[in-house]
Amino acid sequence: MLAAMSTAPVRPSAQDTTPIRDRGDACPGTLRLHEADDGALARVRVPGGVLLPVQAEALGTAARRLGDGDLHLTSRGNVQLRGLEAGCGRELAEILGPAGLLPSHRHERVRNIVASPLAGLDGHGHGDLRPWLRALDGMVCGSDSTHALSGRFLFALDDGRGDMAGLGADVTLTAGAHGTAWLRLGPGERGSTAAVQVPSAYAPLAALLAAEAFLQTAAVRHGRAWRIGELPDGPDELTDDVVRRLRAAGVTARATAGDTGTMSQVPGPPVARSSAPQPGVVTGGRCEAALSVLAPMGRIEAAQWETLRKTLRETPRESPGEPPPEPLVSVADREEGGELRLTPWRGLVLTGVPAARADERMRLLGAAGLITDPASPHAGVGACIGRPGCAASLADVRADAAALTPPGPLPVYWSGCERRCGHPRGDRVESVAVPEGYRVSVVRDGQVRSTVTTDRAGAAGHVAQARTSRPTAPTAVNR
Ligand code: SF4
Repeated sequence: MLAAMSTAPVRPSAQDTTPIRDRGDACPGTLRLHEADDGALARVRVPGGVLLPVQAEALGTAARRLGDGDLHLTSRGNVQLRGLEAGCGRELAEILGPAGLLPSHRHERVRNIVASPLAGLDGHGHGDLRPWLRALDGMVCGSDSTHALSGRFLFALDDGRGDMAGLGADVTLTAGAHGTAWLRLGPGERGSTAAVQVPSAYAPLAALLAAEAFLQTAAVRHGRAWRIGELPDGPDELTDDVVRRLRAAGVTARATAGDTGTMSQVPGPPVARSSAPQPGVVTGGRCEAALSVLAPMGRIEAAQWETLRKTLRETPRESPGEPPPEPLVSVADREEGGELRLTPWRGLVLTGVPAARADERMRLLGAAGLITDPASPHAGVGACIGRPGCAASLADVRADAAALTPPGPLPVYWSGCERRCGHPRGDRVESVAVPEGYRVSVVRDGQVRSTVTTDRAGAAGHVAQARTSRPTAPTAVNR
């Protein structure tokens, strides 16, 4: 079991109205909306993907009242609301703020913290990540400098099973045995050659110091680097800086050098290749059951969200007359009741489900249109918004993905243009709209292994072939 933080998390100020530092980072947030062809778009930060019932309700209300009713899951476990009316930011904040989804205006775009979705639920890993999650989020929202992190900066909290390793995070904390934790900097392909071992209780502090050290390095020496992987000299110098900062804070920190840049070869727990929780009933944790489902192409319609929300067990804090909950750092202290965990693979895990009712509730979720069977032809299929929502798109990729994707073991992602917004990490098939039709590629271990351009009619056949292809030697550019 992970140790709880020994220092109290810093409570962020809801009154904080310091202007957002604009570094040319155009990522939208909850307060800064992006104008798309289907209306304004907001991205709501959901640290660790964890939503309590009252937060799920607030998101559903915001989508229904101000947007197109749907909730779009992102590849960082956050939620995107689309079809919003321009200028609805204030009303959006009034709905999300009291539910704890806007703990600091100043840090609202510092939103990317992912965490092992099955932590504490299936008997694998080293236990519950919520103590790390609330400590880190409290520290990030209480820091005087982290508001300058770009909307792309990613923290990953791994319970030791290795499922976060392939997500290309800037800062990865991995739980180890006997109250230890490992900190690694930089994405997998070009990550640190060293890992830093710290006592588990100080892991969130290590992550915060890493982000602050990066900001200082990027500002002083490298201009506009948004990600640790963009540092020209790599992250090793930064790792040394973090060790110095930890020791200055009185924390025992031990750097262990590696001789390669791959995450799987630095010291620490083994790295799993298979990451996404499969659809099904999850058992083996402390108590009760959890339900793992996938959202078809990452989109959850209003009625589906309502079904998910109702599936969560009733909790006392939802009772009428209760005061509105406080931000995550306080709300998440509650141990009882269910929560909804959004995964970076556009899935959802519902916790706190009575084991005796798990199968019945799973059937209800399936009847609502969510993916509950790993063998579903829709499992592993994703697409960007495409036409008509995005002017840059060359095709209605969501319609094409639905019509042209045959089943297969490799995930497939359809993009309307070369930007490939929201494409997943890891081994996959990419089908990118081009003037001729689609370019279908197989990506394994971060490299393109094969690629073919086809007209639209031929896309289904090439995607079928690609989804069932065997690993081959790399042939093309790194992606
Ligand atoms: S990948 Fe291209 S078409 Fe798709 S949402 Fe992004 S910019 Fe638009």
